[in-house]
Formats: sequence, structure tokens, C-alpha cells
Amino acid sequence: MTVKVAEEWLNACAGCEISVVDMGERLLDVLKLVRFVHIPVLMDHKHLGQLGNGHHIELPEADVGILTGGIKNEEHLEVALEMRKKCKTIVAMGTCATHGGIPALSNTYHNQEILDRYYSTETTDPVSSYPGEGIPALLDRCYALDEKIRVDVYLPGCAPHPDLVFAALAALATGTELKLPDKSVCNECPTFRQGKGQLSQMRRFLQAPFYKAPDEPLDQMRCLLEQGLLCMGPVTRGGCGGNKITPRCIAARVPCRGCHGPVQQDGNQLLDMLNALASNGIDIQSLPEYTSLSRFSGAHGILSPKGK
Ligand code: SF4
Ligand code: SF4
Ligand code: SF4
Repeated sequence: MTVKVAEEWLNACAGCEISVVDMGERLLDVLKLVRFVHIPVLMDHKHLGQLGNGHHIELPEADVGILTGGIKNEEHLEVALEMRKKCKTIVAMGTCATHGGIPALSNTYHNQEILDRYYSTETTDPVSSYPGEGIPALLDRCYALDEKIRVDVYLPGCAPHPDLVFAALAALATGTELKLPDKSVCNECPTFRQGKGQLSQMRRFLQAPFYKAPDEPLDQMRCLLEQGLLCMGPVTRGGCGGNKITPRCIAARVPCRGCHGPVQQDGNQLLDMLNALASNGIDIQSLPEYTSLSRFSGAHGILSPKGK
């Protein structure tokens, strides 16, 4: 039996959709198992009827509904509710959907501050009024998907590796359980560590980490956190390297930024990282990038405007 799949994007950048396309030839294998009945990145299918003359968002029924992006305005909410109504299983794909992602950094501002910043900056012509008519109204903050609708499967990553997307689609199509990594990025990191108590002071990532030569094996490079770079590996869910296992940023000798969200779905990267650093004697006031510890997971009430 062919599994019907619908896909939609909400408060998203389309990077997750590129991961679908980046499956490459494996997409052809997927298409033997599933039939996409709605997927804006691959096919033309309108929200308000094919002639655009409908009044409510209507999506086709499907066995699996994949949603990328969080929910920040009334249209996102309406699409999410329609997908929940029409699809038996809902997949939150990408960290915007699972934890708010980068757009949830906006939760540190009130909507008025965001509009003022966007439409009245000193570098653009000031506008006399902000767009309103025909534009979906903003919600009070950016929500992860499961704050508004029930989610059955979580597939984090910014964007999820095409290997993960393929594994998820194959599992959903064949009715097998999708087993995602449930350990941290550090667990998959080949760099060598000297152990607890080795941290001293955090510094900004303005210079390359220390390694002897560009072709030096990663297992001879010292842990980036122990080198004083704010690597979010300890508090971030692994799996970003796909079948190659080695975390993607570490493979490029760059600290993990935390894009897979917390290790457990309901974890808190900000608190966990502050705890980890404090227990190693780091003065958290000295951190160069304090607010960015939750740059990918600011939904679920974790980030809010100052003073709120
Ligand atoms: S998770 Fe990343 S790639 Fe996916 S929509 Fe959000 S910002 Fe884009
Ligand atoms: S902190 Fe970063 S560099 Fe160190 S082991 Fe973890 S992922 Fe690797
Ligand atoms: S190393 Fe961290 S930031 Fe980089 S891709 Fe993996 S989870 Fe994302």
C-alpha cells in the first residue's frame, strides 16, 4: 500500500525542504513507497483551491503530514490545524518545528519592537504605517509545533541531515519505528578530552581552534570546549552527521552551535549548558555569547522579552 504524504512549511526558511531534495537519487526510492499529495517545494498546490478562490485553507488527506517551521502568525496556525485534521501522523521536521529554531530568537522581543526594528531602521526609509491589511496577524510569540497541535514524531536538525530525512520517510512508509540518536553530540565527537576541570575561560570564536595541520585527524585535535570555545555539544542531541556519524561542525573544526536542540525533547539547552559550565568553574557572566545558548530552542517559554 502506498503511503500518502503531505508536507507544509510554516515559520521556516525552506532549508528543511532542501534536505528533502538533497536525498538525491534516494528520493526515487522513497517515491516507490510514498505518494506526495501536497508538498510546495516539489509541486504546485494552492492553499485556497487551485484557482485561489477559496476562503479557507484546504489540504488533502494524508497518512503522514510533515511540517517544518514553528508557528508565529495566524496563517501558520491555520495550516498546522488543517494538517492535524487531515493527517493521521504528524512529523515535526527541523528544529524550528521541534523547538522554535532560529526564528524563536524573536521571542526576546515584543512584536512592536520587531516591527519597529524591521520597518523603521535607520538604514531604510521610514514608513508611515506598517503593513496590515491582508497580512496574517502575528501571534504573541513564536511557538514550537507541539505547543499548538499534537505531534507524533520529532525530527530535529537545522536542517536535518538528508540521511535522517530518508530514514524517517522509510520508517514511516514501512511502519517501522524511527530510532533517533538519544545521546549528545559529544558522544559522537572524535576529538580527545582531558576531562573535567580542564576548562578555564571561554573566548569568542574569532580564531581557528588549535590543531597542528589541516589534515590532522580529528581524534588528535583537543575538544573545542576544552580549548575555550563555546561548543554546545554536551547539551545537544546527536545525529547531525547522518550515516557518517561525525558531527558536521566538528568535522569542519567548528564548535557545535546546538542546532539539533536539547538531547531530550523537553530539555533546556540554556540551563543545561550554564550548569555544565558553572560546574567546571566558569563564571557565566564572562560568557561571550550568553543569550545564544538557546539560539535554536527558544520556544516552549524558554526565551521571553526582557522584563516580561
Ligand atoms: S530548522 Fe533550520 S533549515 Fe529548517 S526551516 Fe528552520 S531554520 Fe530552516
Ligand atoms: S564539547 Fe564539542 S568538541 Fe568537545 S567533545 Fe563535545 S562536541 Fe566535541
Ligand atoms: S555539530 Fe551541532 S550545530 Fe553543527 S550540525 Fe551538528 S548539532 Fe548542528
